[in-house]
Amino acid sequence: MAIVVQKFGGTSVADSTKIKNVAKAVIKEYRNGNKVVAVVSAMGKTTDYLVKLAGEISSNPCNRELDMLLSSGEQVSISLLAMAIQESGCPALSMLASQIGIITESVHSKARIVDIKTDKVQKHIDTNKIVVAAGFQGITIDGEITTLGRGGSDTSAVALAAALKAERCDIYTDVNAIYTADPRVVPKASRIYQVSYGEMLELARVGAKVLHPRSVETAKQFNVPLRLRSSFNLEDPGTLVVGDDNMEICRPVTGIAADLKQVRIAILRVPDKPGIAARIFGALSDNNISVDMIIQSMEEDHVNNIAFTVHENDLNNAISVLERVRQEIEASEIVVDNNIAKVSLVGAGMVDRPGVAAGMFDALSEAGINIKMISTSEIKISCLVAKEKVEEALRYIHKKFGLDSKEPQPGEVSN
Ligand code: ASP
Ligand code: MG
Repeated sequence: MAIVVQKFGGTSVADSTKIKNVAKAVIKEYRNGNKVVAVVSAMGKTTDYLVKLAGEISSNPCNRELDMLLSSGEQVSISLLAMAIQESGCPALSMLASQIGIITESVHSKARIVDIKTDKVQKHIDTNKIVVAAGFQGITIDGEITTLGRGGSDTSAVALAAALKAERCDIYTDVNAIYTADPRVVPKASRIYQVSYGEMLELARVGAKVLHPRSVETAKQFNVPLRLRSSFNLEDPGTLVVGDDNMEICRPVTGIAADLKQVRIAILRVPDKPGIAARIFGALSDNNISVDMIIQSMEEDHVNNIAFTVHENDLNNAISVLERVRQEIEASEIVVDNNIAKVSLVGAGMVDRPGVAAGMFDALSEAGINIKMISTSEIKISCLVAKEKVEEALRYIHKKFGLDSKEPQPGEVSN
């Protein structure tokens, strides 16, 4: 009998009716003859509500207490789902991460999983019980409660699937598939039936919010097939996320996404000598600040400008670190641009296929949109544009690469 891990997000368990609906999806899998582990997030917007509550008590609550608070959301949803499954006549029990043994690093609010004990879960599924596991949380070897970071239940599910050697991990959400672009912004977005881990990782990182990037990384590392599907339409096959070698890549590009949470920082008139970039980026990395796009302008009069992007949440911290470095290296000024968005085009098929970057620049030029910065990787091209231009940019690029759906759109007359 195969093990199947199913993960249900907050919207899928937002109220008691939805929890009963989720119970049906779990039981369907169980009655198909599988051993089932269901991983659940907190109900609806519970976690946001708990964060807000903490904010009313303290402007800077300590991360240990935040983890104690936020992990409580999942305790509510797992017990209710276990009851709903039992109510339908199937044996089930709920388990917290501490009861399972989901061991994490000793870091609060964004801990990584280091080990998962499988003996207790295995014992229950071997005696035909459905295990309902709390997502998002973990426990340190000292018995401290931790959380994996917002959206972390996807990662809990994939890590459990890897540890239990599950046949697959199904991530149920409120969308029925992954699309070539966010359908709310690009109405002609078409659905994708299969995508590689690499492509999904890039799409998740650049703003396609359907899957938590760390969950895709974990799936890739342990080769766990992921299926993204809708909890409201159990017959839809959803989108399968698998390794490159299991895919025939015949399309040059797979999808586009935008990230509106970056800010650009430029350090002006930086002396042009060895070791300066190492000082700047070393100081940022020592303070746990990730840098995304980087450009350095051509040297002129023994100075150049260095510009890069960071997440907006890291901006204040980055500025205070950089102000110190700026004085040490004798650069003239730090300039921040908040009005940026990063538009990325992703596709494993762009490797060795010339013209993809040119096509993207063409699309932006046709739209009359100025490019502020460019970066590329093997399977991604990103351009920074002004925030207010982002939706137009996405639509033009989507069309340029033939990603527009051929299906008639809602409200569109087909003939
Ligand atoms: N409940 C947590 C959150 O809202 C974890 C999750 O939903 O994946 O971030
Ligand atoms: Mg979620």
